[in-house]
Amino acid sequence: RERLVIWRARMPEANRRACVAANLPAVPDTPRLELRRIVRRFSSGDRTLEVLAGVDLTVAPGEMVAILGPSGSGKSTLLALMAGLDRPGAGEILLDGERIDDRGEDELARIRRTGIGFVFQSFQLLQHLTARENVSLPLELLARRNADERAEELLARVGLKDRGHHYPSQLSGGEQQRVALARAFGPRPALLLADEPTGNLDRDTGKRVLSIFRELHDDATSATVVATHDPEVARLADRRLRLHDGRLEPAS
Ligand code: ADP
Ligand code: MG
Repeated sequence: RERLVIWRARMPEANRRACVAANLPAVPDTPRLELRRIVRRFSSGDRTLEVLAGVDLTVAPGEMVAILGPSGSGKSTLLALMAGLDRPGAGEILLDGERIDDRGEDELARIRRTGIGFVFQSFQLLQHLTARENVSLPLELLARRNADERAEELLARVGLKDRGHHYPSQLSGGEQQRVALARAFGPRPALLLADEPTGNLDRDTGKRVLSIFRELHDDATSATVVATHDPEVARLADRRLRLHDGRLEPAS
């Protein structure tokens, strides 16, 4: 069924017809993520910088979208809004069809814990916890059963089966980012956000991390949005968009 959802997300028309032909129930059409006319301005003194000037975006379950754009174009600003870490000046943000931009702080924190995974350029692992503990902690906070087993399974999935007892300082950058990916996908988030996930890695390490990233995404039904200025990352995505003058436009 998960496979069907993913396939459905990628090829809605073909899949809809196949579902009808096979007499299977239709998979709901609700996008995972929807941004409507998002505006974000920053003011300092008497100057106002309009970083986002009406951003529209819809991402389906199982779809991976890359947001491209040079440094300063507003990629991180946009991801922070999707993560509910910041609020738009205007516009609406919907997760699984429900508005999140008008929720209170506690509610937003809950949505972040349960529904949103984040991968940072700088890994952001907890230094005093082992790799396995970094992966299992979010699952334990959510009182998920079999948190340990799932953490083990995820570490194996990212090629770190035997490194679970190591602390982040004992791991290379690429290994730390693989742990961070395992942690982010662990709770099966509706939305997976990655901000320059290979920005701190050399080219070959970055490539290996990216292929694991894509595999974890393909195993999930998350909508994944990755911000990057790296064409290698962009190639990985199903769809590429560019932030230009505060709006998203198709990128080749
Ligand atoms: P990117 O991630 O594409 O490099 P950012 O989203 O970090 O771009 O930043 C876009 C623009 O918004 C930059 O000019 C940045 O200086 C500005 N900016 C981001 N956050 C703030 C803030 N909290 N206050 C003022 N300006 C900000
Ligand atoms: Mg940025």
